Amino acid sequence: MTTENRPLTADVIRALPKVVLHDHLDGGLRPATILELAAEVGHELPAHDAESLATWFAESADSGSLVRYLETFDHTIAVMQTHEALARVAREAVLDLAADGVVYAEQRWAPEQHLQRGLTLQETVDAVQAGIEQGVAAAAAEGRTIRVGQLVTAMRHADRWQEIAELAVANRTNGVVGFDIAGAEDGFPPSRHAEIWSYLAANNFPVTIHAGEAAGPESIAEAVHLGQAGRIGHGVRIVEDIAFDPAHPHSAEGEPGTAALGLLAHWVRDHQIPLELCPSSNVQTGAATSIADHPITRLKELDFAVTLNTDNRLMSRTSMTQEMTLLVEQAGWTIDDLADVTMTAAWSAFVHHDERRALVDDVILPGYQLVEGAQV
Ligand SMILES: [Zn+2]
Repeated sequence: MTTENRPLTADVIRALPKVVLHDHLDGGLRPATILELAAEVGHELPAHDAESLATWFAESADSGSLVRYLETFDHTIAVMQTHEALARVAREAVLDLAADGVVYAEQRWAPEQHLQRGLTLQETVDAVQAGIEQGVAAAAAEGRTIRVGQLVTAMRHADRWQEIAELAVANRTNGVVGFDIAGAEDGFPPSRHAEIWSYLAANNFPVTIHAGEAAGPESIAEAVHLGQAGRIGHGVRIVEDIAFDPAHPHSAEGEPGTAALGLLAHWVRDHQIPLELCPSSNVQTGAATSIADHPITRLKELDFAVTLNTDNRLMSRTSMTQEMTLLVEQAGWTIDDLADVTMTAAWSAFVHHDERRALVDDVILPGYQLVEGAQV
């Protein structure tokens, strides 16, 4: 019996080694933890038990508007304002990812949003790093090996980009592996503070930029050309620079779909700039209509460097296993497709080449062989 003959169920998928590059720390809290932390600091929540709170986050995020979606973060950020709270949230995120089969993760978050109760920027990074290290150790005690790096984010509207970029660079030996900008894309393009990109490049510091989610292809062009981004956060709207033949939008019987790429789409594909695609999140914010029609499948068929991600596990009630299962059930993905995006993500991780090779050779390939072997 081959893997083709066995259904690729969520249980099988959960056992596969996974890599997640786009997962927000403040979008992945456990509902029960939010309740406990909110009670400690007297923060008023819109629901009072874990299940209804989980539902509130998912439904609020389901409004079809990125702005509404981002408002849900007011509640998670409100309870992440002390060393203990930041460390706990980071520790639990690592444990939840490890239990989902994730072997390498990057956790992104914006230190400037965690200063409301007196922490300094540096103290917030130290708190998250302490939590990550506790989580990695606790996962190891349960027999799960996971590596986790921090991506330090500057909020686009807050105009502290240079300060946050310097914080990221100063912490490259303290667990910070890259820099990102996030928040409302429209009106706050990378060119708003063009000088930081040359600062980061001069420091050989890895950059990923949210682009091509709420804003169109022009935001992706700025991210890759001005921002010199090594990866694009989302980037799903690169499809607007691709003319798909309506008669042949998808591949059939292994034949590639028919499509004419614009110059930017060519550039992104020619340079194999990884796209951090997040299907469920895009359906919630309206950047995609459904999982079945999500551009991730067409972009992968066209040989873009596609990675699969969760974005916000709480708001999208998702996990890597869930995203993979949805694509298998609704977009026809196979175990080979899951392996492809996992490999691409591993080779796109913000660690050095030898570390990526070790991740692929020593962790991911043996992990796939184990699952495939168990299915024979
Ligand atoms: Zn994001």
